[in-house]
Amino acid sequence: MVWQSFFVPLSIRRFFVAKKACSLFIFFFFTCSFLFSLLACAEDSESEKTVFPRDKELYALFPNDPAPGDSVASHLSTGVMMIVHPGGLYTLSFDVDSAYDAPKMQLFRFYGHRSGEGYGVYKMTTIKPEIINGRYVFTFACEENERSLWGLTLVQNDDYYKGKTSNVMLEGSGKYSNHLSLNLISVGLIEPIEGVSDMNDLARMLIKAFRKSYTSFVIDTIYVNYAAKHPTLGNKYPSNKYWYAGPVSEENPLYELGNWPEKGVTEALDIALVHRIEEMNVLGYAALFASNLKGGEGSAVIVGSHTLTTTGVRALSAKEIVKVAVHESGHFFGLKHTTSTLADLEGYQDLSILEDGFDDTPSCPELLESGLYKKAIGKGGSDFYMPNHVFRMLDKKAYGADFNEEDCPDAYLFMFPVSSENTMREFSKQQLKVLKQNLMLIPH
Ligand SMILES: [Zn+2]
Repeated sequence: MVWQSFFVPLSIRRFFVAKKACSLFIFFFFTCSFLFSLLACAEDSESEKTVFPRDKELYALFPNDPAPGDSVASHLSTGVMMIVHPGGLYTLSFDVDSAYDAPKMQLFRFYGHRSGEGYGVYKMTTIKPEIINGRYVFTFACEENERSLWGLTLVQNDDYYKGKTSNVMLEGSGKYSNHLSLNLISVGLIEPIEGVSDMNDLARMLIKAFRKSYTSFVIDTIYVNYAAKHPTLGNKYPSNKYWYAGPVSEENPLYELGNWPEKGVTEALDIALVHRIEEMNVLGYAALFASNLKGGEGSAVIVGSHTLTTTGVRALSAKEIVKVAVHESGHFFGLKHTTSTLADLEGYQDLSILEDGFDDTPSCPELLESGLYKKAIGKGGSDFYMPNHVFRMLDKKAYGADFNEEDCPDAYLFMFPVSSENTMREFSKQQLKVLKQNLMLIPH
């Protein structure tokens, strides 16, 4: 995932230099207000020492994610980061460790340097927890103007908290609606697609599939746009030339097509259909919790009409394209794969996240053990660090028949990582609930 004004791909691992920045505070014009009803448990003592995040690379905590992983738990005291949205109300909770007194939480905000290079961080406030049912609960709200990157540390006696932090959960609830519109953007030359007569026909199939699968959303409408007709960028995307979406590790120029400049369309979920993605057997991609409906980095789900295989280029049917779009959009709103692939584990940098953490989604250890669906699909994977983790959807047809994914107990779910004819038909109840919670966090 990459951020419009906060980081460019991979740069976040290079920086995170702790420094204070009062001047930039004004430059960014943001306001951040903590709920005053919660002031009883919030304080910001001038004499208190600021305990900055310790590491240059921080694990990310996503809202309403039941599987944050043991890396987040073990780094919670020394610093993790999280994506926050305007108006979101958040609670961070974990089990009380009775061997220690309660820690305080110091909240930080990361900001991009004006040069575009690197990040700074400054402390915003300190919060005391409530204890509810044996858990520490830290509550905070934020009024940023845009999606932002915050960090936290747990502090005791002016040092990192040493107690255990088990069963970490970040819950977020937002003020936005559960309505969503879609914007199908045809990029470059798209050949006729099997199963539909034209782009409008594909759009009809797409909205039908979204309404059937995203039952916790209200899908208002779908727009169809052509990159070649974009008022300012159109000449970059001629309609007579194939568009090849670059490897997921590279900056994605298609994000500039997000926030389509037309009334109503600006806040739709942009689904960019390209000729194909320039990675072997990859059908589509989206950043995990890209959560950006307003244009800029991470603001589009990318889907190919073709896929590159070892034996040549394969055309996808309309049905397949729609399935890929539904799956990738699930990542966009914060869902992980029901079963992690080896590439996922590498992306998470956490070997404990073998599945998505939901009680009502089975997983398939055999899939991981099979050794299939490992990186092996081009460059970039090893450079991924959590916030830049981008999910690829893989093409089963490329991997032969020595392991049958369709036998996996989670194959029926949309967030199963492998697409084939008989996989991916629905979201679970818990997934639908989280999809709605996360959509309502995202300004639109
Ligand atoms: Zn995926």
